[in-house]
Amino acid sequence: MSATIIDGKEIASTIHSEIKAEVEQMQQKYGRVPGLATVLVGERPDSATYVRMKKKACAEVGIQSFGVDLPEDVSQDELKKLVEELNADPNVHGILVQLPLPGHIDEEEILGTISLEKDVDGFHPLNIGRLSMKRRDPLFVPCTPRGCIELLDRMNIPIEGKRAVVLGRSNIVGLPAAMLLLHRNATLTVCHSRTKDLPAVVREADILIAAVGRAEMVRGDWLKPGVAVIDVGTNAVDDPTKKKGYRLVGDVNFEEAKEVAGFITPVPGGVGPMTIAMLLRNTTDSGWREMGEG
Ligand code: NDP
Repeated sequence: MSATIIDGKEIASTIHSEIKAEVEQMQQKYGRVPGLATVLVGERPDSATYVRMKKKACAEVGIQSFGVDLPEDVSQDELKKLVEELNADPNVHGILVQLPLPGHIDEEEILGTISLEKDVDGFHPLNIGRLSMKRRDPLFVPCTPRGCIELLDRMNIPIEGKRAVVLGRSNIVGLPAAMLLLHRNATLTVCHSRTKDLPAVVREADILIAAVGRAEMVRGDWLKPGVAVIDVGTNAVDDPTKKKGYRLVGDVNFEEAKEVAGFITPVPGGVGPMTIAMLLRNTTDSGWREMGEG
């Protein structure tokens, strides 16, 4: 058996087109477009790359982006003041503070300062709180976990009543992904570094979301035949045959898993492109909401 490959790149591209059409509609109806503010502190090359990719994606679909770059030694008060100014700016519908922030910054306070209505990353404590409660809807859901669920939905993979296993419990991926599955009435198990006999737990899954950051940890013989595998892991492993000297692999051994699974996301080209697509989605939703729709 060979799994159906879930083409995240293709699905994300479809979502970009849908959003582009919506933004044009918004422009025609209200003479305005959604706006995303990105705040980059310091000069981490990976963070700078992520912010650049997000701005580029905004430009492609017609979302206005406002980039603010701050020095590494910016004070807590200065950063907080900037977020408050962006909260008050009617052209900004989403505020994204690129993480991680430098060690001297209280990240929780900064994320909590972002207006609930502009929290397109979904990390505001109130949005996370609502996500964790039954019959409460957050205004925004964090982008990567939302992307995982969107992939299942677009592939018509049912969630309700299924056994779902999430590997990882981080605030940005594992935990919110687990909460989303619970909202969708899956029967859920969340695993972490202290879980005993991981292969036996994983073998129960009809849906597996892997977000541990351990290259190819999940082996083919850990999987139930037919399982839908969403591999969030993005791990660089040495590969002298590549120009960069490394290649990216997931948390799941793709070659083994594709012989057992029913569906599987590749790495790269699976969950990765969905994260930005969901950021555009959240920003556009926020735009509609501010204009009195949605
Ligand atoms: P974290 O390091 O924050 O969390 C890892 C989680 O995995 C923790 O809950 C940890 O358990 C658990 N874990 C670690 N080792 C094991 C193990 N051997 N067995 C079981 N559980 C284990 O990572 P993130 O959630 O931030 O990211 C996870 C992966 O997803 C990374 O590869 C990252 O690069 C990728 N990622 C990809 C994105 C995308 O857009 N495609 C976006 C964000 C992340 P414990 O809590 O006990 O420490």
